[in-house]
Amino acid sequence: MKSLEEHLAETAAFHGGDCPGQTLGVRLARAGLQQIGIDDPLSDRWRKNIMVYVEIDRCAADALMIVTGCRVGKRTLKIVDYGIMAATFINLKTGRAVRVIAREEARSLAPKYAPEETNKYEQQRQAYRVMPDEELLSFEEVKVTIPPEDLPGSPISRVACERCGDHVVDMREVKIDGVTLCRPCARGGYFARGD
Ligand SMILES: [Zn+2]
Ligand SMILES: [Zn+2]
Repeated sequence: MKSLEEHLAETAAFHGGDCPGQTLGVRLARAGLQQIGIDDPLSDRWRKNIMVYVEIDRCAADALMIVTGCRVGKRTLKIVDYGIMAATFINLKTGRAVRVIAREEARSLAPKYAPEETNKYEQQRQAYRVMPDEELLSFEEVKVTIPPEDLPGSPISRVACERCGDHVVDMREVKIDGVTLCRPCARGGYFARGD
């Protein structure tokens, strides 16, 4: 495993600067990998055998990507946006899955670990570098069933939406009364079409 300093530098370069969220993300990722028994995530042995579900789409998500090597585009990093500073690390070889959560208490412990710093943001950033794992994070062993259509590899299906004609892969389509529809057509999407 690379050093904490190396990880922080790499993450800062990618994320565009240092911040408490990314520092927390680096710590979370390092601890998560350790929990599932992986210390060289970027090696050929492990590169394709780690999966991470991250529960927040903020700074920490970038840090998780850099430290674990998991990528959205490789389908090894899933964003399940619960708005919780937590992530689950899965060792695909052993099946072991551990959910790591940033402890709310860590926020109020920051002054203890960076007493000289008066700026709250900077104090958190510095404290999260040095705070022991057990004060910063909590861990729970979980079970994650990954459906085949979510796994890395070629798409397992490809169908056309019968309303708009867009093609949909990996079983993301919806069938209503025998009609195959894409999700936006079936349930409404994040976008609206102009008239
Ligand atoms: Zn940030
Ligand atoms: Zn459609």
